[in-house]
Amino acid sequence: MTTYDELLQRVLGDDTSGKPVREPATGELIGYAPLHSADDLESAISRADRAQPGWAALGDAARANALRRAADLVDGSSEALVELLAREQGKPLNGPNARFEVGAVSTWLRVTADLQLDPQVVVEDENLVAELVYEPLGVVAAIGPWNWPLMIGIWQIAPSLRMGNTVIVKPSGYTPLSVLALISILNEALPADVLIGISAGRDVGALLAAHRRIAKIMFTGSTATGRSIIESSAGNLARLTLELGGNDAGIVLPDTDPEAIVGDLFWGAFINTGQTCAALKRLYVHESQYENVIDALVRFSTSVPLGPSLDETSLLGPVQNQAQFEIVSGLVEDARARGARIVTGGSPAKELGDLFYPVTLVADVTDGDPIVDEEQFGPVLPIIKYTEVDEAVRNANRLNVGLGASVWSSDLAAASEVAGKLKAGSVWINRHGTLHPLAPFGGVKGSGYGLEFGVDGLKAVAAPKVIHRPRA
Ligand code: NAD
Repeated sequence: MTTYDELLQRVLGDDTSGKPVREPATGELIGYAPLHSADDLESAISRADRAQPGWAALGDAARANALRRAADLVDGSSEALVELLAREQGKPLNGPNARFEVGAVSTWLRVTADLQLDPQVVVEDENLVAELVYEPLGVVAAIGPWNWPLMIGIWQIAPSLRMGNTVIVKPSGYTPLSVLALISILNEALPADVLIGISAGRDVGALLAAHRRIAKIMFTGSTATGRSIIESSAGNLARLTLELGGNDAGIVLPDTDPEAIVGDLFWGAFINTGQTCAALKRLYVHESQYENVIDALVRFSTSVPLGPSLDETSLLGPVQNQAQFEIVSGLVEDARARGARIVTGGSPAKELGDLFYPVTLVADVTDGDPIVDEEQFGPVLPIIKYTEVDEAVRNANRLNVGLGASVWSSDLAAASEVAGKLKAGSVWINRHGTLHPLAPFGGVKGSGYGLEFGVDGLKAVAAPKVIHRPRA
C-alpha cells in the first residue's frame, strides 16, 4: 500500500518552483504543481507520437491486460489517492465522494478492458464483402475539469488507450496533483510515453488542442471552453468529443410520494456538493406536491453533514474554488433580491472555512430568473412550481443545454411518457445522474456532442475503416 506522503513525493519530488496548490477546505498548502511550458508540451507530443505505433502493435488483448493491471495498481494505492483527491478537490472521503470516485476509476478501467468491439460485415452480396474495422487515431488530447478530475480523466484515458492511441492529459489547474498521481500509478502498467501528463495553464491547453499531431480531443469542461476548442481544432481537424456544461431539469409529477424519492432527489442535486455536470440543477414540482417536496428535502438535508474534507463523517464539502464560490453565492443573492424564498441555507458557512456554502433550497422562482437559467454548479437548488405537466416539459426543454434530465413519479408509465419528451442525452426516472460504464453518455444542444462509455465510447476514439473485398 502506497502512503499519501510516498505518492506525493513520487509525483512532485522536492521541486518547489511550480504553482502552489492549496486545500479548498483549509487553505493549507498541498504541494507545488509543475508548470509545463510550450516546449515541454512539444516534447511530450513528440514522445507520445513516437510511442503510439508500438503501443498499437502490442495488440488489443495486451492493451486490455495493461488496463486490468492498471486497475489493480489503482486499488493498491487507493487510500493515498483518495486522500490527495479529498485534500485537493475538497470532496469528503465518504458518500458519493473521494472513495466513490477512486473506486469508479478502477471499475471503469476493468469494464473498458472487457469491452468487445468486433469488425462488422456491413455488406455481403454476390460480388462484395465490406467489413468495418476500427484502428487507432494516433495521439489523443484529454482535457479535463476540476469537479471529478480522476473519474472524468479515466473516462477519457481508458478507451483511448484500449484502442491503441497514446494520450496527453491536461488536467484542470485547480486539480493537477491528483491527476498527475493517477497518471504515475497507471504508468507502472504501461510502456514509456504512452500516457503523459502536462500540468499547465489554459494557454498551453489551447496549444495542445491546436497541435497538428493531435488526432482527437476528449474535452470535458464549460461550454465556453468547448467553443474555443472547436476553433483551435480548425487547423488540425482533430475529432472532438465535447462533454460540456448542463443545467439539468427534474420534473416531479403530481402522483409522487415525496418521502419515497427524497434521498435520490437530494443526492441527484447535491452529489459532490452540487459540483457535477449531470446534477439536478432545476427542480419542477407540481403545485399539489410543492410544499411537501420542499419540506421533505429540508428534513433530509439536515441529516447530511457538511464539513472538512478529511473528516470521516462529512458527506458534503467546500466549493472547490473562489471563482465558483462567487458564482454560487452571487446567484443566491440575486434570487433573494428578486424576492425568492430561501427555504434553507442562503449564506456562506464561514465558521467552517472560506469556501463552505450550505445546502440551499430556493423556492418561488420562475423560468427566466438567473438562478434557474444559469448553471449554478454548487450546493443550490431552485424549485419551480408548475400546474400543467406540458408546461413543465416545455420549460425543462427551454434552455440551450441538454446533458441530463429526470422525471419522478410513482406511475412508471406516466414517467416514461414524459421521459420520451425530455431533450437531453440521458433521462432518468426516479433518479438523476447515475451513470453506468456500459450506457453511452453525452449531451445534446450546448452540452456538446460525441459519446463516452461502452462500445460507442471505443468507437469515438478510433478511426473507422472499411475494407472492400471481392467475394471469393
Ligand atoms: P473549464 O472549461 O474552465 O476548464 C476545463 C479544462 O479546459 C481545464 O483543464 C482548462 O485548463 C482547460 N482549458 C481552458 N481553456 C482552454 C483552451 N482555450 N483550450 C484548451 N483547454 C482549455 O471547465 P471547469 O470550470 O474546469 O469545469 C466546470 C464546467 O465543466 C461546468 O460547466 C460543467 O458543467 C462542465 N462539466 C461537464 C461535464 C460533462 O460530462 N458534460 C463533466 C464535468 C464538468
